[in-house]
Amino acid sequence: MAHSKVVIIGSGPGAHTAAIYLSRAELKPVLYEGMLANGTAAGGQLTTTTDVENFPGFPDGVGGQALMESMRKQSERFGTEIITETISKLDLSSRPFKMWTEWNDGPDNAPAHTADAVIIATGANARRLNLPGEETYWQNGISACAVCDGAVPIFRNKPLYVIGGGDSAAEEAMFLAKYGSRVTVLVRRDKLRASKAMANRLLAHPKCDVRFNTVATEVIGENKPNGLMTHLRIQNRVSGQEEIVDANGLFYAVGHDPANALVKGQVKLDEDGYIITQPGTSYTSVEGVFACGDVQDKRYRQAITSAGSGCIAALEAEKFISEGDSPDEQKPNASVEHSVVEPAAQEVNGEVKKDPKGATAEYKSNPLL
Ligand SMILES: Cc1cc2nc3c(=O)[nH]c(=O)nc-3n(C[C@H](O)[C@H](O)[C@H](O)COP(=O)(O)OP(=O)(O)OC[C@H]3O[C@@H](n4cnc5c(N)ncnc54)[C@H](O)[C@@H]3O)c2cc1C
Repeated sequence: MAHSKVVIIGSGPGAHTAAIYLSRAELKPVLYEGMLANGTAAGGQLTTTTDVENFPGFPDGVGGQALMESMRKQSERFGTEIITETISKLDLSSRPFKMWTEWNDGPDNAPAHTADAVIIATGANARRLNLPGEETYWQNGISACAVCDGAVPIFRNKPLYVIGGGDSAAEEAMFLAKYGSRVTVLVRRDKLRASKAMANRLLAHPKCDVRFNTVATEVIGENKPNGLMTHLRIQNRVSGQEEIVDANGLFYAVGHDPANALVKGQVKLDEDGYIITQPGTSYTSVEGVFACGDVQDKRYRQAITSAGSGCIAALEAEKFISEGDSPDEQKPNASVEHSVVEPAAQEVNGEVKKDPKGATAEYKSNPLL
């Protein structure tokens, strides 16, 4: 059985950013990247898309797969050990934390790995509707992320559709209205679930329409390799009447499923299943367990925000490890709602000064970072 100071579970921008920071800090992190974990290839959600145009540093855009391969290489370059296996079970009840892999999860098997600290970066999956035609036109007209894909040329001045009735659907529709000729929101029920303010803004928007009691039943498009979607079959749920409408884009806003199976029942989750982290940090309700990326972010879910939270998780895991198990240390915990740790010391000319009572600084930056 292997033991590491810190194990990272996941393989998206959050996991790799954490790995880059921790390996540069010489903590020899091990990263389990998964083998088709949650149905997604190692590298995470970006491996399922073509061009990423909003990740800084790439003025001409970068392929999602290429971006994740570069992150992986960067993690390895500084000494991250990457294991291409899926973690199937995690025991967070005592330290060191124990984990089992898919090929090693029988009841009598010893854990494959133990760790003093664990970073959960298992991501989330956008829900799909499995409509006829969805597989063919996924990323060729169908998307689950308006912010990511809305600006691409195939949607410019074209009729676009959004499916969903909540705040996300309303936000996405109004965002898409900047690009499309018209945006129609299909709502299954006879009213919007969105907040009143958001619903009012959507209903008043000059470029948006809302069709209630209406569902999409088929995506139709060009019949050639990499053909684009051109139409949508929709149905009124009350009258049963079907029609085929011009549609060059279809955006799903029907929710995401955070990949929380490993930690369910062990760390605190919110009502939608996202790991609760203390605001502005990666601290979960279990000391020594940190979370970053989409599994703890139900609002932004972007590659750059995942990377940013991966950096935070690495710095906090490093601090946790360097502090060891001192019982005197007061460590933040997500069960302490919105607690703010006042800095006890100030950095002056690169040096951290202790306060008169002898308390140590909240965070002392590592010169290796
Ligand atoms: C089609 C599409 C296009 C997108 N386009 C953009 C874009 O243009 N710009 C942008 O900023 N964002 C975009 N996003 C969103 C972006 O991809 C996510 O916000 C980001 O990838 C989340 O990163 P993450 O670190 O949380 O991990 P994820 O990318 O969600 O990856 C986590 C991965 O960890 C692995 N894993 C999960 N469980 C286990 C386990 N038990 N053991 C081992 N490994 C495991 C799996 O491979 C999983 O996929 C897009 C998303 C999609 C789906």
